[in-house]
Amino acid sequence: MNYVSTRSAAVRVPSAHAIANGIAPDGGLYTPEALPQFSPDFLRSLAPLSYAERAAKILACFLTDFTEPELLAAARAAYAPDRFCYPEGYAADVPLDAVALKSLSDTEHVLELYWGPTAAFKDMALQILPHLLTASLRKLGETRTACILVATSGDTGKAALEGFRDVPGTKIAVFYPNDGVSDVQKLQMVTQEGANVGVSAVSGNFDDAQTGVKRVFTDPAIRRTLDGHGCFFSSANSINFGRLAPQIVYYVSAYLDLCARGAVRFGDPVNVCVPTGNFGNILAAYIAKKAGLPIARLLCASNANNVLTDFLATGVYDRRRPFHKTLSPSMDILISSNVERLLYYISGSDTEFVAACQRSLSEEGHFAVDPSRLADFRGFFCDDTATKQTIREVFTDSRYLIDPHTAVGMHASRRYRAETGDRTPCILASTASAFKFCAGVLDALTGKPAENDFDALAALSRVTGQPAPKPLSSLDGKRVRFEGVTAKEAIGETALRLLGI
Ligand SMILES: *Cc1c(COP(=O)(O)O)cnc(C)c1O
Repeated sequence: MNYVSTRSAAVRVPSAHAIANGIAPDGGLYTPEALPQFSPDFLRSLAPLSYAERAAKILACFLTDFTEPELLAAARAAYAPDRFCYPEGYAADVPLDAVALKSLSDTEHVLELYWGPTAAFKDMALQILPHLLTASLRKLGETRTACILVATSGDTGKAALEGFRDVPGTKIAVFYPNDGVSDVQKLQMVTQEGANVGVSAVSGNFDDAQTGVKRVFTDPAIRRTLDGHGCFFSSANSINFGRLAPQIVYYVSAYLDLCARGAVRFGDPVNVCVPTGNFGNILAAYIAKKAGLPIARLLCASNANNVLTDFLATGVYDRRRPFHKTLSPSMDILISSNVERLLYYISGSDTEFVAACQRSLSEEGHFAVDPSRLADFRGFFCDDTATKQTIREVFTDSRYLIDPHTAVGMHASRRYRAETGDRTPCILASTASAFKFCAGVLDALTGKPAENDFDALAALSRVTGQPAPKPLSSLDGKRVRFEGVTAKEAIGETALRLLGI
């Protein structure tokens, strides 16, 4: 299977090349030229397997230049039980094997994706990506050092640092928006250990950081400097298909687990609801659907930054609107980069159309598609007040603790059900531990804002009787290694410095 640039079908490469390079030379995103089809027999054959074994088989459908033993070794290392574990005393309905499922009713099934080392779902992809990347470099005979450049709205940064720390043949530099991440997220990053890592704040919001990093990627002078030092750029953002492919796995896996529990009859459809920022996670669900997983509707949940809600309702994507800082900061995004891959599929692989949309987006701030092409999706959004109310409601009614991102999703799926009466079982992607955003969650539950995240962490444990995940509770008092703030125009220079070039 080949990967093409969303902006030009003339760029065609195998998956190892797409993963090693992250972004296509024309600025487009590498995307499978045609999607594989999961037959019912194939899906059934995955049912008795462990998560890592399912992952290897599903990834093999997309990364056809990798061998299955190679993928299985990567998945086993990535999803080892010492990396994905929940605190003692915690129980789910489908117990943890990389992911866990909690059913709140016959129609509400929460897919817990946050039991990895950084307490957010980004670990699902970023624990395996370094294995896929180093295998890709070997296949390509690449001897240069891969320099991973990351723009993060908070969770990708830490998950990528944790995934790539001390991985031979790689270095990593992470940029986060100075005022756009929670105290816990920031401390997770600035205390990162490892000899090949660097971190800097950027003055501005996530879109500034992401646009700045994308520019550095394609800057010919910087690329030459890198090359002169035996290095090249790669990406761990969800523009890298190596990030997306592992995310397809958990939708398939959750479906099979619901069938095994009798919550869904094999072959019957489910809906999937995803709290969405850069459109990576929900695109993975879309790809699973297109590949034959019985998904009926894809519910796209946004916070007050509701550019996607409008896009899915009208076909008009218009980023010319105020940027809101919300309780769900990992979704404070107005330029959702993976929409570009959606455009590729809904336009029937029309790369010229995709290129024109992206040009219009960057030059004029908007583009439009025929809204009837977006019928697989329904978009919803809610503000911080509704987010907090949902956290409170779910805890009061079900004694179940959810983080603000998951609450945005829960709010969307409940609105959808109320508006349509659709009783199709829904898989809700729960993207972070509540303890990662404890100040907002504590405020939602008690009405009392905490001084800082660390007071909130302890207080949230007290109020809910649940222990915080270990990687979070052990953060307080760790040594800060990275204090710098960079202007968005200077990301290139700072990146080179952090990479030791
Ligand atoms: C990254 C993130 C999201 C958004 O995911 P996308 O793939 O960017 O749409 C949602 N919730 C949390 C907690 C995240 O870290």
